[in-house]
Amino acid sequence: MRVLVVEDEAAMADALARGLTAAGFAVDVSRDGEDGLWRATEVEYDAVVLDLMLPKLSGYDVVRRMRAADVWTPVLMLTAKDGEYDVSDALDLGADDYLVKPFSFVVLLARLRALMRRGGRERPAVLTAGDLVVDPAGRSCHRGDVEIRLTAREFAVLEYLMRRCGEVVRKRDLLEHVWDDYFAGDPNVVEVYVGYLRRKIDQPFGRAAISTVRGAGYRLEADGG
Ligand code: CA
Repeated sequence: MRVLVVEDEAAMADALARGLTAAGFAVDVSRDGEDGLWRATEVEYDAVVLDLMLPKLSGYDVVRRMRAADVWTPVLMLTAKDGEYDVSDALDLGADDYLVKPFSFVVLLARLRALMRRGGRERPAVLTAGDLVVDPAGRSCHRGDVEIRLTAREFAVLEYLMRRCGEVVRKRDLLEHVWDDYFAGDPNVVEVYVGYLRRKIDQPFGRAAISTVRGAGYRLEADGG
C-alpha cells in the first residue's frame, strides 16, 4: 500500500514517513500543496495524509482540486488545534477523515487502514485466499493453523497480491505500491521477494498459490496448488 504524506513541517513529515515505512507502507513525501496535488493526481496512491496549512496551496485546495480532477484516493486531513480553518469545511470539500495535532501515531494508522478499506475498491479488514489469511492491522499471516513470519517488505508484497487475488499483478504495479520513489535498484527485486514468499507461504505446505504469468507478472490464486 502506497501512501503520500503532504506536510511542510520537516520533523512531522520525517516522523510520519519513518512510522509509516516501519508499518510496511511505501511512503512518498511532498513538502507543499502544489507538489502534493501534482503527485496525488499523477501517481496512484492508496491513501493521502494531507496537512491543512501548507505553502503554495492549502490542504483545502489540494483535496478540492483532487476531487475536481476525479481522483478519489482516500484523504486523511491533519489540522492544528484552534486553526483558522474549520474541519467540517475540509470534510465538505472531499476529505474522508481528519486528525487534530498532536495525535497518536497508532490512531493515525488505524484511521488510515479504515480509510483504505472504504476506498475505491472493496478492501476487507482481513484478507483471505483459500486457507491463507492475512490481517493487515494485526500484521499476521497464517496458512491454516500455522503462523507464518514475514518481514515488512514480504508482508507488503503479499498484502498487495492478496488485495488483487485472482488478477494478474504486473511487476511494475508491485514496485509502485510496495517500494517508494527513491527505489533505484534492480526491478528484479520483485522476483526476489516473490521467491522469498513462495518459500514461506507455498513450498512448506506443498502449494503453489503464487503463479508466474509469463511476460505479464504474478497471480495469487485462492485454490493455488
Ligand atoms: Ca503545516
